[in-house]
Amino acid sequence: MLLGVCFLFLSLAVPLPGCVHDSGSGPARSDEAVAFIGVNVVPMDSERVLADQTVVVRDGLISAMGPSSAITVPAGAQRIEAKGRYLMPGLSDFHIHLHSDEQLVSYLAHGVTTVFELNGTPRHLTLREQIAKRQVLGPRLYTSSPLMDGGPEGGTVVSVNSPEQARQAVVRQKRAGYDAIKVYDNVPPGVYEQLVATAREQKLPVMGHAPRTVGVDAVLRARQAFISHGIEYFLAGSRDESRIPGFALGTKAAGTTVVPDLSHVHTSLKMMEDLEGVFSDPEARYLSPKVMSDWRYSNPTRRVDVRQFSERQRAAYPYVQHLTLSLQRAGVRLVLGTNASDAGLFPGKTVHLELAELVRAGLSPYEALATSTRNPAAFIEEHVDPAARFGTVAVGQHADLLLLPGNPLEDVGQAGQSLGVMVRGQWLTREQLQRMRDKVAESFNR
Ligand SMILES: [Zn+2]
Repeated sequence: MLLGVCFLFLSLAVPLPGCVHDSGSGPARSDEAVAFIGVNVVPMDSERVLADQTVVVRDGLISAMGPSSAITVPAGAQRIEAKGRYLMPGLSDFHIHLHSDEQLVSYLAHGVTTVFELNGTPRHLTLREQIAKRQVLGPRLYTSSPLMDGGPEGGTVVSVNSPEQARQAVVRQKRAGYDAIKVYDNVPPGVYEQLVATAREQKLPVMGHAPRTVGVDAVLRARQAFISHGIEYFLAGSRDESRIPGFALGTKAAGTTVVPDLSHVHTSLKMMEDLEGVFSDPEARYLSPKVMSDWRYSNPTRRVDVRQFSERQRAAYPYVQHLTLSLQRAGVRLVLGTNASDAGLFPGKTVHLELAELVRAGLSPYEALATSTRNPAAFIEEHVDPAARFGTVAVGQHADLLLLPGNPLEDVGQAGQSLGVMVRGQWLTREQLQRMRDKVAESFNR
């Protein structure tokens, strides 16, 4: 409870006693101007660096940007001397499961300023509004509906077993205010087509798995907006790699966005082979005891044939690597998503593992960074909010920015070394973010 109150006030930049003790300047208020002086800008509108720029932020937006010699810093602005540093757009993770609110600060600490929850609940709808109104500090949040699947109703799953049930369910989720429809493995054929058609009428993108019951080819024929994860092609398409070029062309023609999520394949193996290694990660101290026990409980060793699962994941990994590169080369929009905070996937940190995975799969650092900046923004502009303005550094864009010690276009790992993060105009230094995280860790009383 106390934690919630702290976040509430943090977001208003009025540190409460007992929340963030920042004996100097608190987080910059969003209505004061902030200027990054002499910084190298990585705008992510194309593969380029603009050297020695001054970037002025006011009211949460980038209000001026240009060569330092040409830009006047407003009187009274907070000046951030940034010569030799690099400024890039904040990152996105478009497949998350926010299992507890304190994870929001982990995303910020890792430079993630926009997230898409892919199994939404009314709680996420509330948080989305609280974050937008700056009552809660966190990355910009989008949220899908609860997941929709065939079969019995259970937990948070919305059952769709007939076309009429699917139609009504989609209309209901639209009224509730969700940004998208989440589909899962067992939506029956016929029902799936109705679900996609109604979502199209309601102007909601369909996001999620390729239902095993329907298959990748039919999902592409239906022009599902978003497939997460890459492994869907392996599980609901074909394990034969010779099919990959055809899938890539079909995906491009369908206009479907794909989340490769290589780190999920990788981490599921690690969860089986080195569970204690996963839990010894320094990030584990920021996970709530509840999430940690869920991780232990949901570990695949407890619920599947380990050898079979391990063989499947091992075969899937190079397949998804090849698929990812083929999709990129075919011009498919790839978007970074991780599935955090499901088992083994640490909020925020996994984004940087995924960026490294994408480079390992053959993408350039620019292409990898695009999946977490301009590409998710383009998806939102096309399917959710045409007025969204994030994912690039330019005048008029939301000031979601990372200040880095080195050039991320040369080394994608630099994106994980933020010296400070600006979230919709609010400047948070690495030290301030660390203090917030320490408070989170202390609140768990381990
Ligand atoms: Zn998921």
